[in-house]
Amino acid sequence: MQPTPRRIRPHRRTAALTSVALLTLAVSTSAGSGHPVAGSTSAAGPVAPVRTSSLGPCMISGATGVQMSEGIPTAAGYARSTGTVRALNLMVDFSDAPGQGSALDRFGEFFPQTTDWFRTSSYGRLDYRPQAPIGSWLRMPKPFKEYGIERGAPFDPGYRELVQDIVSTADPKVDFQDYELLNVLITPNAGPSALDTVLSVTFAGNTEAPVADGVPVANASFVYSRQDDGSGSYAETGYRVLPHENGHVFGLPDLYTQDGGGAVGHWDIMSEDWGADNDLLGWHKWKLGWLDDSQVDCAAGAGTTEHLLTPLAEPGTGGKLVFVPVDARTGYAVELRTRAGNDEAVCKTGVLIYKVDADVDTGHGPVSVVDSTKDSGGCTRSPNVHAELSDAVFSPGQYFKDLRTGIRITVAGTDPEGNHRVYVTRA
Ligand SMILES: [Zn+2]
Repeated sequence: MQPTPRRIRPHRRTAALTSVALLTLAVSTSAGSGHPVAGSTSAAGPVAPVRTSSLGPCMISGATGVQMSEGIPTAAGYARSTGTVRALNLMVDFSDAPGQGSALDRFGEFFPQTTDWFRTSSYGRLDYRPQAPIGSWLRMPKPFKEYGIERGAPFDPGYRELVQDIVSTADPKVDFQDYELLNVLITPNAGPSALDTVLSVTFAGNTEAPVADGVPVANASFVYSRQDDGSGSYAETGYRVLPHENGHVFGLPDLYTQDGGGAVGHWDIMSEDWGADNDLLGWHKWKLGWLDDSQVDCAAGAGTTEHLLTPLAEPGTGGKLVFVPVDARTGYAVELRTRAGNDEAVCKTGVLIYKVDADVDTGHGPVSVVDSTKDSGGCTRSPNVHAELSDAVFSPGQYFKDLRTGIRITVAGTDPEGNHRVYVTRA
């Protein structure tokens, strides 16, 4: 599979939402007759969660040929995203870029933070076990520059050669069968600074990968450099490149585009993995098997339905996601975002509405957040993040209407616990 390159410090351009009409600060007049939306429990199994039929219309999928899609269920070949997942970490250096300091210090830039991040985001459903069975730098047989690694480099020939050399060098000490995914933590002095270009990349679901101990090294994340965004917060936030790259290993696409983080802003680590800590969209949590089907409402029927949303970032059995399918490939997702869990820098609490298009490939804008306060400039004070969408959430009394489909999503009010009631109206 082709690589999924990522970038840092995108241009601060606001991507225009197309075919979406936005009405804000409109007082709700919808009475909301509200037939309850059926939900039932299901096993969030370790391989492919069993989906209840009531959610079927919300399991949008992309056409074949979409490399990495938002569709549910995730295509086969990616690493399992629930239960115990063992990550092999190899710290790699080169004769022209010898590791400086201890290899375990490089490992320590990412752990235990990455483990904690996944535990929090998954409500404990992903038990991420990082291991570093070789505690020293793994020296590659060729100088770094001879592999021809640069931004956007394809798997062949450079990465294939690098993976083969990693496998043959580590193989005497590692049984690759013991792990679900591989993190290659490259010595930071190999290649350019992250301020110049970002090389970090993941090859996920790669069936053409070299085989080690009888298993293909199909899901591997490579982390280069140090992702210091210049805010002086590297020690706290620099690790976040790894949960982003591992997100690809679990099948999540990139949400930033050529224009940067303008489509989703700081609402998902697949959009921006720099700056303050941020969580994943509820859609991604459902896709990864971290929400029970009973926590997802599928608003597919005609008329008005009522839904109660509890804060996405907090554990609990309450409703976390409402999805309003438009067709077999697209729909609107609705969730409640607060400052909690991994969402440490939310500057406006409320209901986030975004369009998911399973037919749009990774890096081309498969998700677009609807901005309730267009051209406001945003409310965040975090440096280096896309500010405009930071206050995109909808508050009680506001609604969004898609003029093309007539779908209307109204935030009706809150209960004493801060949960939000939402009405969905469709013809
Ligand atoms: Zn990426």
